[in-house]
Amino acid sequence: MTSPARALADLQQLVSYGPRFHGDPGIRAAADWLESELVAAGLALARQSVRLPGWRPGTVSQVTVVDPLIRTLPAWPMLGSGGAEGTVGGRVKQLGPQGLWGDSQTWQRFVVLGGDGRAVAYLHGRDDGPASPQPLPAGSDAQLPHLAIGHLDARQLTEWIRDDRHPSVEVACDAHRGGDAVGDNLIVDVSGTGDGRALLCGHYDTFFNTVGAYDNGSGTIALLQLLREWTRTPPVRSVRVVFFTAEEWHLGGSRHYVAQADAADALAPGSPDGIADLDFVLNIDGLGRGSFLEAFASPETFDTALHESIVEHAAASRPDLTVVSRFPPTTGTDDASFYRAGVPSAFLTFNDLHRLHQPDDLPNEGIAGNVAWTVGLARRLVDTLPRADRFARPGIL
Ligand SMILES: [Zn+2]
Repeated sequence: MTSPARALADLQQLVSYGPRFHGDPGIRAAADWLESELVAAGLALARQSVRLPGWRPGTVSQVTVVDPLIRTLPAWPMLGSGGAEGTVGGRVKQLGPQGLWGDSQTWQRFVVLGGDGRAVAYLHGRDDGPASPQPLPAGSDAQLPHLAIGHLDARQLTEWIRDDRHPSVEVACDAHRGGDAVGDNLIVDVSGTGDGRALLCGHYDTFFNTVGAYDNGSGTIALLQLLREWTRTPPVRSVRVVFFTAEEWHLGGSRHYVAQADAADALAPGSPDGIADLDFVLNIDGLGRGSFLEAFASPETFDTALHESIVEHAAASRPDLTVVSRFPPTTGTDDASFYRAGVPSAFLTFNDLHRLHQPDDLPNEGIAGNVAWTVGLARRLVDTLPRADRFARPGIL
């Protein structure tokens, strides 16, 4: 059994390596630590390298309102933002809503127009909570700064615009592209005592501005604990566990994995590197504080079986929990890469959105308690969930 105290100690060790931004030394140190822990438990780990076009957040990201009053707004560069020489500025115009991660979150987008009326920067106002960086949607203008601001600051800009007070801002941002960003997916196979095959995953990377205890140190430690427990009491199904890198880079790690798995299936049907005969995928991302558990899954029959199993497990062990089922699943985390490939998949989270992509996403007992509990739940799900039906790879909808 995993204790909350053990989960907390592991989480503290993981965050001691600093932010685990894909391509950076922190994530390499975390990968080495995970490997040493798994080898100590008698498990073998394989690495799959993931190479993406490089991007750096720089050191300056500032939005200062200069009219109708002077105020500096907390701001972060969006992942993929361009930079500007010195400061650019001008009038702010509201463009409208912007879906991020598909439409998992709907923010407000503003353009900053320079003296000649041309766009010099974009601002992205969060739907709720403080300023928090997210990856820019594909097709964004990578030459210009794109800065994330908080919900209340976005509302203030909206009000000023509505009241014809013509807000103006100055923006400084030295984010930039260049080189490659390389990191590893970490893969561990565990043999089951019975039939079937499942894939469990969680991302171990973070945004650049946080050590990510909740997002997703929590899921990383849950997977580590599951693997340790399975060396003593093996699962019924055989399980492949994958710690993904680059989830925060538009699911770069899991998309690479699925592309390689499709290739493996084409070459050798039934290969353990393929995804064609998986019973299901279970992704653990974001076991924050609290007692509100969301489970996303597809197809619907699998979602229903998953929900029933979670509710039963919680009734016996966590009567305080509220369990919400979400169908169809969002495109906001790694199970989406499998969902798009027509693989039955599920995603578990205790959302803690105030801490999402924030420097204060630090270890605490609430996270540790939910990690320890989710380990028991995941063991049950791997052993008892029925094999899910396949469905056609989703197209646009
Ligand atoms: Zn996450």
